[in-house]
Amino acid sequence: MSLLSPVLRRLAGWLAPVTVLSFCACATARPETPMTPSAAPPPAEAAPQPPIEVALTFDDLPSHGPAFPGVSRMAVIESINATLRKHGVPSAVGYVNGQLVEQQPADRAVLEAWLAAGNLLGNHTWSHVDLGKVGLAAYLQDIDRNEPLLRELAGPGTPERAWKTFRYPFLQEGVDAESRTAIRAHLAGKGYRVAQVTIDFGDWAWNEAAARCAAQGKPQLQESLRKGYQKTARSFLRWADAAAQQVFGRRIRHVLLLHAGSFQADTLDALLTSYEKAGVRFITLDAAMEDPIYAEDPGIAQTWGDSFIEQVIQARKPPHPPFPLQPLDLLEAICR
Ligand SMILES: [Zn+2]
Repeated sequence: MSLLSPVLRRLAGWLAPVTVLSFCACATARPETPMTPSAAPPPAEAAPQPPIEVALTFDDLPSHGPAFPGVSRMAVIESINATLRKHGVPSAVGYVNGQLVEQQPADRAVLEAWLAAGNLLGNHTWSHVDLGKVGLAAYLQDIDRNEPLLRELAGPGTPERAWKTFRYPFLQEGVDAESRTAIRAHLAGKGYRVAQVTIDFGDWAWNEAAARCAAQGKPQLQESLRKGYQKTARSFLRWADAAAQQVFGRRIRHVLLLHAGSFQADTLDALLTSYEKAGVRFITLDAAMEDPIYAEDPGIAQTWGDSFIEQVIQARKPPHPPFPLQPLDLLEAICR
C-alpha cells in the first residue's frame, strides 16, 4: 500500500483540484516560413500521438485488504487473471508479502494461480515493514526472509532475475540518507532491480470503503464508488503522462501501482478499458524498466508514498502540472 505523501497532499491542497491539463503541442509546431500561396503545401496532418505505455503491478499478494462477503482470495486472483488475459496484458508483476501465506497457508495456491496465468512475482518484504518502526537491520532481514518462498514458487531452473524486482512497502525508500543508501546497496548487491511507480492513484484507499458498502448491502453507494474510482484513475493517468512529458521532455514508460484486492478485481475490466480509450498500451515491467529515466536517482532521503515522478519533482523542482487529489476524506467516511 502507499499513500500520497503528506507534503504533496498539502501542496495539492493549495491548488484548485484541477485535473484537466492543457499541454503545449510543441512537437507538432512548425517553423514560420514565408511562402507564396501557390507554393503552400497541403496542410500537414497532426502526427499521431504514440501510445502511453504502462506496466501493471499489483502489491500485497496474495491478499490485500478486506475481502468482499462471500468472495474468496482465489476468486479475486482468478478474476484479475481473466481480466488481464482479456485485455492482452503481456504479464503483470505481483508483489508478495510471505507473512500473508504463513498466516493463511491455503493462499499459497493464489500465488501459484497467478504464476500459472503467465504473471510474475516480486519481493515486497516478508511482513510489509515500516522502516521507521523496525529499523534498518530488521528491514534488511525482512527483505531476505521473503526470498525462500519466492525462489520456491518460481521453481528450479527459473533465473533469479525473474523474481528479483523489489517494491518498497508504502513507497518508503528511506527515513534518512543513510538508511536509503543502505537499502539500495543491499538490493543491488543481491541483484534486485527497484520497481518504481509512476502512476499511483491510491487504489488501496477504495477497498475498505467498498467492502464496508458491500457488507451493508448498499449497491448504489458501491456504484458511486466504482464511478469515483474510474474518474480518479483517469485523472492520475493524465497527470502522470503530462507531468512526465514536462519533467522528462517526452512520454515515458509508466508503471501503474494497483493492489490485489476485491474491489480492484471488481473494477479492473472497466479500468483497463478506460485506460485503453485514453491511449494506453500495456507492456511488461521489464520493458518499462528499460526506459533510461529509471537510472536516475532522485536522492530523496525520506519518502512515503511518493511516486518516482514526484521524487524527481522534489529533487529538481521543474515546472509541472498541479497535483490531482484523492478523495480520502470521503472514502474514510462512506458506509460507516
Ligand atoms: Zn504494499
